Amino acid sequence: MTSTNNLPIIIGHNDTLLHLYLPERGGGRSFFVRSDKGHIDLPRAQEAGLAGGFFAIFVPPESSGDPAPRLNVVVTEKGYEVPMQAAIDPIYAQRVTIAMMADLFQLEAQSQGRLKVVRTSGELETCVREGVLGAILHFEGAEAIDPGLDALEVFYQAGLRSLGLVWSRPNAFAEGVPFRYPHSPDTGPGLTDAGKDLVRACNRLGIMLDLSHLNEQGFWDVARLSDAPLVATHANAHTISPSTRNLTDKQLAAIKDSEGIVGLNFSVGDLREDGHNDPDIPLTKIVDHLDYLVEQAGIDHVALGTDFDGTHVPLEIGDVTGLPKLIEALFERGYDDEALSKVAYQNWIRVLRKTWKM
Ligand SMILES: [Zn+2]
Repeated sequence: MTSTNNLPIIIGHNDTLLHLYLPERGGGRSFFVRSDKGHIDLPRAQEAGLAGGFFAIFVPPESSGDPAPRLNVVVTEKGYEVPMQAAIDPIYAQRVTIAMMADLFQLEAQSQGRLKVVRTSGELETCVREGVLGAILHFEGAEAIDPGLDALEVFYQAGLRSLGLVWSRPNAFAEGVPFRYPHSPDTGPGLTDAGKDLVRACNRLGIMLDLSHLNEQGFWDVARLSDAPLVATHANAHTISPSTRNLTDKQLAAIKDSEGIVGLNFSVGDLREDGHNDPDIPLTKIVDHLDYLVEQAGIDHVALGTDFDGTHVPLEIGDVTGLPKLIEALFERGYDDEALSKVAYQNWIRVLRKTWKM
């Protein structure tokens, strides 16, 4: 190993809170006890050098009580199609969101200073320096927010710093992409008027907007309206893996022009050229994919997204403790210390400082 194994790492997306909120999904594990279930707990995060991450609040479909939204995957000649997921009830979404926020704040309280919910880029930098896990509160979908945006103000005061307009379903603000391969991300209408108001309000407050799961028309609406860097916390290159969840070269160029970020998604179906949900994919293929993102967007605009605890990740990564292996593979590919530091954590800090304005 090289000097790369001590690199602090910030990741763009994890669903660990969902594992803790739904014990049937997480296997009843504790965040503070090392487990072989899921991808992230505090002991494994510390071993990996995880310095920060976007902790997503994802509201599962109401009817299910299911550990995960059950997707009805229809296999097609060249890939798959999943019907658009149903919208969820905003009152239910708000109740679940508040419960999961409470879980995060309780983790912070119980962590004895090892996890901190960060609200400024300065706090995040302190976490990086001091080896504390900096948790950024993120909503994956805006269903818990009323179109009048009162809840947005309240959630912001509570610590919300990152908001995905949608998951892969419609809501009052925009429409997400249904999961399809091969297929363009242009799957439906752009932002509603309420969605446009939401973008302006997030700009005013300094809440980062996440364009992951948003359809292409929605993406361009945000690109036109927003004065903040464009960010997709967990998405890949459509040219390599043509799923609806991935970004076209034109979208990657827009992210670059806005000084934004794309966070590499470890979700195997969106990494692989064939779109198969098969985690047996060599590390070199992941590096190839990241190389392509760098080629399109530039080294200042690529970071790690991961989607830990939200998806199937490559076997070679396994869980959060596999991150240093990826850093090592990038080093072997020729990424120098400066480039590795950017991809590992510095790009996230730069974009958050500019977006949060503090
Ligand atoms: Zn996601």
